[in-house]
Amino acid sequence: MNLMETKIRKIDKNQIDKNVIEEAGALLRAGRLVAFPTETVYGLGADALQEEAARKTYEAKGRPSDNPLIVHIADYEDLKKIAVNIPPETDMLAAHFWPGPLTMIFEKSELVPYGTTGGLDTVAVRMPEDPVAAELIRAAGGFVSAPSANTSGRPSPTTAEHVEEDLGGKIDMILDGGAVDIGLESTILDMTVSPPMILRPGAITAEMFESVIGPVDVDSTLLSAESSQAPKAPGMKYRHYAPKARLVIVEGDLREEILAIRQLAFAAAREGRKVGIIATSETLPFYNYGIVKNVGTRENEKTIARGLYRVLREFDEEDTDTIYSESFAAQGIGKAIMNRLEKAAGHQRIAASEIVKLQKYRRITFVSGTDSARGPMAAELLRHRDLEQEYVIHSRGMVVLFPEPANQKAEAIMKSAQMTLENHNSRQFDQEDMQEDALILTISESEKEKILAEYGAGKNVYTLNEFTGDNTEIPDPYGKPLTAYGECYEVLDRLITRLADKLNSITEEKAWQEK
Ligand code: AMP
Ligand code: MG
Repeated sequence: MNLMETKIRKIDKNQIDKNVIEEAGALLRAGRLVAFPTETVYGLGADALQEEAARKTYEAKGRPSDNPLIVHIADYEDLKKIAVNIPPETDMLAAHFWPGPLTMIFEKSELVPYGTTGGLDTVAVRMPEDPVAAELIRAAGGFVSAPSANTSGRPSPTTAEHVEEDLGGKIDMILDGGAVDIGLESTILDMTVSPPMILRPGAITAEMFESVIGPVDVDSTLLSAESSQAPKAPGMKYRHYAPKARLVIVEGDLREEILAIRQLAFAAAREGRKVGIIATSETLPFYNYGIVKNVGTRENEKTIARGLYRVLREFDEEDTDTIYSESFAAQGIGKAIMNRLEKAAGHQRIAASEIVKLQKYRRITFVSGTDSARGPMAAELLRHRDLEQEYVIHSRGMVVLFPEPANQKAEAIMKSAQMTLENHNSRQFDQEDMQEDALILTISESEKEKILAEYGAGKNVYTLNEFTGDNTEIPDPYGKPLTAYGECYEVLDRLITRLADKLNSITEEKAWQEK
């Protein structure tokens, strides 16, 4: 395909420049292609009544020509010119939802060429709300076909820059009206069946239709990913919106989703793989590994709809091999968000709980008497081991009167092994340390007994010897020369190696049991 010059014209919807609209309208009337903003996503406009213009649209997008286009109108009376046998509920629906993010499907009139409808006898019609779109449609003669202005298979464009990325050099003009409002494509409602049927979820939901015309059906292929049936909207069968990386949706309650994604990102980082994470303002601070992007806030799911395609495009610029996404509510606009996310993921999803239960312990606490030498040494040794999972590792003491730095001889020994206790401050063991996901390892038997006596049995409290199955006594170097600390270090080093092996084998064992 020969590249052409793509003119880019800024346009402000609050103060529409008539000259720009006239220039763009003339291009459309001449059978050329103009991308323009709508409230859903940017559309690739062409005159819907010219077969040749439809052909150009398919070519520019690289879209399969059996995937029909939506015809956009600006005035309700125009519907009668392109559709026949319009059912009576249409008036009510239009009164409530037009102009707006609703596409309705009707039997087509003679006026509409098969090139526009992908060979179908039906036509999809929408009246967009964006005033730039409405003015342009009028200037073009009233009927503008406009699929999303992206290359087929890429996320739909929510800014003029996205359009330029995909279609620069392939179309005549882009009207740049800034970022769109909704960010997901329109709801498609098939009016040729009774009751009408939703073929694609969007900002207008089944509940909203119900309050106007009573119950509507939902295309069953939208409900289950495994369905072998073809979806009723031809476009829904394609793996649209596909990012370059593998996208996996992590499903569960939010707490589990966060834990699972943390585990997956940690495992990837350990293997030297870069992963992406689709997070929200609320969950952003929980992730320490991977490239984390904020899609919006859970307080207002509209922001997530608006941010989704942007984030997917941004990930195409990063070289991540996998992107993990949190899930969103399956109500309201959340349904449309999940539908697009699942299509982008090619329906790959994992249950957060399956991942979460692979990791029994999330924190490891070493307990000694004063938390000044052996406990902190053990903790620091473990932090330097190659662990398959992420743990919060720290140390506590059973008799800590006030916080103190680590013993100086212990620090000297650690320094000579390229580690440090510099940031350590001793801390008293307390109830807070007894969490379900904590593994508590005591240096000697007496601390274990004390914990069990004070906080109750049945928790994960072991001596370090017991847990590692190695009975080498951990000598107490307190008050002795540096060499005694050195000997203590040697024993701890060996026990911690065994501990690391055991922690890593626990996860492997569990992972095998899952299979
Ligand atoms: P896009 O314009 O990129 O949002 O894609 C238009 C969507 O509308 C595609 O999923 C099409 O398959 C669907 N569509 C358009 N016309 C019809 C029709 N007559 N019957 C069913 N689905 C349609
Ligand atoms: Mg599209």
